[in-house]
Amino acid sequence: MANLSLHPRVLQLSPSATLQMQAKAKALKDQGVSVVVLSAGEPDFETPKVIVEVAKLALDKGVSRYTAVRGSDELIKAMQLKFKRDQKVHYGPLQVLSTVGAKSAIAMALESVAGPGDEVIILAPFWVSYPEQVRLTGAKPVIVSASQKQNYVPTAEMIKSAITPRTKAIILNSPNNPTGAVFSEQVLREIMEVLVGTSIWVISDEIYEHLVFDGEKHVSPASFSADAYARTLVISGASKGYAMTGWRVGVVGGPLPLVDAMVKLQQQRYSCIASISQAAAAYALQETPELCVEIENMRLAYQARRDEVMHLMKELPHVKCIKPKGAFYAFLDFSEWMGKMHRGSLIENDEILALRLLSEAHVAVVSGTAFGAPGCVRLSIASSMPDIREGMKRIQNWLVG
Ligand code: PMP
Ligand code: GLU
Repeated sequence: MANLSLHPRVLQLSPSATLQMQAKAKALKDQGVSVVVLSAGEPDFETPKVIVEVAKLALDKGVSRYTAVRGSDELIKAMQLKFKRDQKVHYGPLQVLSTVGAKSAIAMALESVAGPGDEVIILAPFWVSYPEQVRLTGAKPVIVSASQKQNYVPTAEMIKSAITPRTKAIILNSPNNPTGAVFSEQVLREIMEVLVGTSIWVISDEIYEHLVFDGEKHVSPASFSADAYARTLVISGASKGYAMTGWRVGVVGGPLPLVDAMVKLQQQRYSCIASISQAAAAYALQETPELCVEIENMRLAYQARRDEVMHLMKELPHVKCIKPKGAFYAFLDFSEWMGKMHRGSLIENDEILALRLLSEAHVAVVSGTAFGAPGCVRLSIASSMPDIREGMKRIQNWLVG
């Protein structure tokens, strides 16, 4: 037999905790168990019909060829318009790029700026894929943790203390997955101020920009100053706000040298994103009045679900949760349950808790450790209201039973 081996790069890579839990829940469901799935952050809404119709039309018109690496002319225009409208920044046609979801955009941005010996600052709680994507470049993730008492928003001072001569980039993510925290404009400005005079890139993951509640407004750090504009790469996409996860559309805008580097990577890796997805995204990004109604209805539905979770939360003994201001998650702090005997066995940590909630209560949630916050679990509220109510009831019954 040939002695075949895999590179340590992949041997040391952790699986995505969100996608892994989703797969576990599906496996249990396939066995006939009624599982309430509150694990992956994936809208339960269908992609709005108006978008689907545009894609169908594009198929009929034979939009089935490679496009330019950045995207079709119409998508480039739509991205420029989007960044001007939402981020309040002007990007030329060479400063935008469409990618295979925001996920590949983050990976290519990191590959473009960091490598062995470098450091990238990540703010915890963080989205599960950031540290692994940093490690894949050979760089070291440096974690700055904000506590629940800080509403999961770090101070600029905390970030300043983490900076070293090796720091190449910082990833910002507001609205935040998993906590739902929305960084205020003031905090974002203070963070950007700390970076002035450094050679640190800002990778601003704004994928949840549409999902902000209670009258709060999304602001992009790229818009703050000439310095901020020159160091910030904005990453957004169609997955969350337009309920288009499967279409795989990431939308990127930023400084020319960095976008150029990512274009080169994309040339060699993916060529371009699916032409039909591009046609759909070029329409969606324009946010026509017809589509805006649907986007707003989805946002209001998430907000109502958030309110319901906060209400039902009161029935969960010794569990705390900060009211999410955006995105579609609730991050529940079960610290007081850690190390306790419950229903005949020890809840050693949040990973055991998530596994037991799945196997005993039949509710799929993701453990906090994967997000850099041990003792917590994340619930996705991108699930229907009945599912959310049933899931919360099952968790309550499991805890009090
Ligand atoms: N960033 C964050 C914070 C996310 O939660 C997700 C969800 N998958 C992504 C990026 C990637 O989104 P996608 O690749 O579907 O555009
Ligand atoms: N971003 C979503 C989540 O956090 C989808 C799954 C993933 O890509 O991680 O659940």
